[in-house]
Amino acid sequence: MSASCLTRVAAFALAVVALGPSRAAGYAFLLVEGGQGRTRQWQPSRFVDSRVPWFVTNVVDGRLAGERSFVDVAAAAFGHWEAVDESSIAFAFRGEMNRRNRDPSDNRNLVTFADAASLGSGVLGATFITSGSDGRITDADIVLSRAIDFTTRFSAFAGSYDAESILTHEIGHLIGLDHTGLVRATMAPFTDRGDVHQRSLATDDLLGAGMLYPEADFPAGRGTLAGTVSRDGEAVFLAHVVATTVNGRAIASGYTRPDGTYRIDGLPPDVYVVHAERLDGPVRPSNVAGFRQGFGQAETTEYETTFHYE
Ligand SMILES: [Zn+2]
Repeated sequence: MSASCLTRVAAFALAVVALGPSRAAGYAFLLVEGGQGRTRQWQPSRFVDSRVPWFVTNVVDGRLAGERSFVDVAAAAFGHWEAVDESSIAFAFRGEMNRRNRDPSDNRNLVTFADAASLGSGVLGATFITSGSDGRITDADIVLSRAIDFTTRFSAFAGSYDAESILTHEIGHLIGLDHTGLVRATMAPFTDRGDVHQRSLATDDLLGAGMLYPEADFPAGRGTLAGTVSRDGEAVFLAHVVATTVNGRAIASGYTRPDGTYRIDGLPPDVYVVHAERLDGPVRPSNVAGFRQGFGQAETTEYETTFHYE
């Protein structure tokens, strides 16, 4: 089992503004620990109607305020991923459960609350995934911190964290996505009070979901960027490789593997500028543990950002 979480933005707010083209994108997968790149994902065909089931607690004891119920907000968040054209992933709400604590092995994917002490400092929400060595996910529970003020309002509310945005992010983990290095995507690891942009999936989020659960017509007709990042002949592991249009819009990104190779699939046909950068903030290697642990080694450090055309 492992956890992936969303933390409050804290001191990173300025960096987020400075780095953020408005529809930036990027994707990475949660990998089997030591599995040399094997992805962790559902096999939806196991389920009725090929829909991944989810449940919600009816012990709603977190600090929630707003006009929508917790279950309605969760349904909206699952709906964002189900609406992705590139992806076939679908979900089914299977009812309320009369308990508050998650169970990593009951094969019931529960959306619930957890004490802050069990989540770590600054963590708003987290997703706990159980999978086998083959990468097949059997259980994924999403929790929100009981210590945080959340809003369930339709509209943005400056004083609280947006439950729909945070659940949308956590459901990205539930389907097998790790954090992206692109700060305006839903799978970026930070948010702030009043921020609702993570309700809206960025291109990079869409492509990540599409590559894990491709619709029949995807990624046909799309492009792939692939290459190797090296320094003085040595492979660079965990460089963030970003594909940006010539107009400056970051479309998608990925991370290099221990042999320095990267591959970004599903790209809309276009001319891209590619750059490789170190994960030196705001997103850091510790934020992409679900990818890094797939290879069981430390990232390359001490190198500079490099741009070139492809
Ligand atoms: Zn997260």
